[in-house]
Amino acid sequence: MRQIQRLIALIIIVICSSHALAFQILTPQTEPCHEKITLAALDVLDSPYSADDDIDGLDILEPLFDLALQDNIDIDKGSVAFTNKVTKTFDVKNSPLLERFVISSFVAGVRFPDTQGIAIIKFNETRSLHIRDENQIQHSLRRSTHDGIDGNIQAVKEFREHILTLAKKIHKYINNQQDSQPRTIWTFPFYGEVEISVYNPAFILGQIAHTIQDSYAHSIRDDDLQLISVANYADIVTGKHNEGRDGPGHSERLDQCDINVTFDALRFAAARRSTAAIFSAIVQTSEEEVFNPTSINDALDDIYNLREGCDLSNQYCDVSWRSFSMKDITEPISISLCGVLGSNHQKSSIMLIIILLMPLAIMFLGTRTE
Ligand SMILES: [Zn+2]
Ligand SMILES: [Zn+2]
Repeated sequence: MRQIQRLIALIIIVICSSHALAFQILTPQTEPCHEKITLAALDVLDSPYSADDDIDGLDILEPLFDLALQDNIDIDKGSVAFTNKVTKTFDVKNSPLLERFVISSFVAGVRFPDTQGIAIIKFNETRSLHIRDENQIQHSLRRSTHDGIDGNIQAVKEFREHILTLAKKIHKYINNQQDSQPRTIWTFPFYGEVEISVYNPAFILGQIAHTIQDSYAHSIRDDDLQLISVANYADIVTGKHNEGRDGPGHSERLDQCDINVTFDALRFAAARRSTAAIFSAIVQTSEEEVFNPTSINDALDDIYNLREGCDLSNQYCDVSWRSFSMKDITEPISISLCGVLGSNHQKSSIMLIIILLMPLAIMFLGTRTE
């Protein structure tokens, strides 16, 4: 029967699941963009992801390794399994368990805004996370109230506030030397959800990385990487999107990170540099007794450097990102055979055929497995 369950689960994943609302995270359908950008920013992945710049991940990691050692963390069985799974999946360079646990906590953190620990097969739960207006900020997307040119300014202001709030949590944690680690849920393939520990500063840094990286998937930028316009998902999925007012629609094309395509390789490199810059600034600040956001704000000035004067009326100043950002715009959500599914009629037709063929498949596999 287990084979049948897996077959049904796989079919439902292929037919029903939507894109990850971000640069992609690893699922049966999508590439682990966020995970790779984060690990490349820490310099623990081999080239080509970590090539050709002066990022030194040890500057970021060594203070955290030292702090984790002082914290005397108890890594329980489930957390060891999680650590081994992450380091094996991403071929992270070999190092002691505690160091790999810290590195893996970054991965749990960068996935967290997309999943909140929920298994990706729970479509209704993960989708409801993505469509909530208040959740747009952690993906560097506009809220539905961020309209017009002022909308860009307001959105950027809220992205920065969100990141500073999280940075303060790290500072507080490190300077108060709390002894307990947060718990979160990790989903193992074909096993399910397990409660694990994560190293708090790395887990929060991962969440910050998610927001920073998404601004290279959820914006139009110019060739100097100045931010021209923040994309919109909240109005798109509710069918109320008016581009002149709400900004460019969320593009599933920009969620890809195939570094064989020059446009994407440049975005990957920029997202990696920005991730490393914000990590460095936050780790340095956290070692000081009083929270001083100056270096964090400097990094954020570079990342969210808004260039005003480009919008739909002048085709966003005809920047080269525009043609990519117009591809695969997310469609409004409608009720379908998969419960709540993107309004993709082709998918629905395929789903209907599979539902009709399912009894035959179960009969066939049932005779082989029982
Ligand atoms: Zn995201
Ligand atoms: Zn996206």
